[in-house]
Amino acid sequence: MVKENLITVEEKIRKACERSGRDRDDVTLIAVSKTKPVEMIREAMNSHIVTFGENKVQELLEKQEQISEPLDWHLIGHLQRNKVRQIVGRVKRIHSVDSLRLAKQIQTDFEKQGELAHILIEVNMAKEESKFGLMPEETEDVIREIAGFSNIRIHGLMTIAPFVENSEENRIHFRNLNKLLVDINRKNIDNVNMDELSMGMTGDYEVAIEEGATYVRVGTGIFGDRIYIS
Ligand SMILES: *Cc1c(COP(=O)(O)O)cnc(C)c1O
Repeated sequence: MVKENLITVEEKIRKACERSGRDRDDVTLIAVSKTKPVEMIREAMNSHIVTFGENKVQELLEKQEQISEPLDWHLIGHLQRNKVRQIVGRVKRIHSVDSLRLAKQIQTDFEKQGELAHILIEVNMAKEESKFGLMPEETEDVIREIAGFSNIRIHGLMTIAPFVENSEENRIHFRNLNKLLVDINRKNIDNVNMDELSMGMTGDYEVAIEEGATYVRVGTGIFGDRIYIS
């Protein structure tokens, strides 16, 4: 199942790259394994996937403990400040830095352990009430502040687009996130030269690639529907 799904996803990524004149190597597929068992992560590993995304710190740490092979783990979900110290040195990227307060905590906890945090700034492009993320207008100012933090490197921007039936509806949000990145880079802020765009999920990753995504975060399309028990 996972193997077949990955073949399909890979084919769609390849075609989206082709359509938009992009190099396949410029897009990294993050397999979003949240709520799914380690056995399914192993299935993906058998298909040569080494990049995984989790949205909860506890679940991420539990899975890391069960897998000895070196993998690239990405934290993609909202991060609470009191959990930051637990992920120091354990993640390749934090995609979900959505406030200056969180960034300050990351600076403090990573500095204590002499580590560098590699982050993306989450932007709420569609301005949805229900979503985390900075407003597009405040993003530059927050980045200017974080740019001065010695233990943080800002690599780019991330967004979670609205849930839509037609993925074309999200094209504008992906395009605008790309524009925002270009605009901020043009300001020549010290220590800020971003080249990563984390955008696109199962429903809309092909459109996101056409608009410049360098990371796509695909869960359901690889591992199947998630079942939440509350
Ligand atoms: C769950 C999740 C995804 C993957 O969603 P799918 O629609 O299953 O592909 C991507 N990004 C974030 C931040 C998520 O929490």
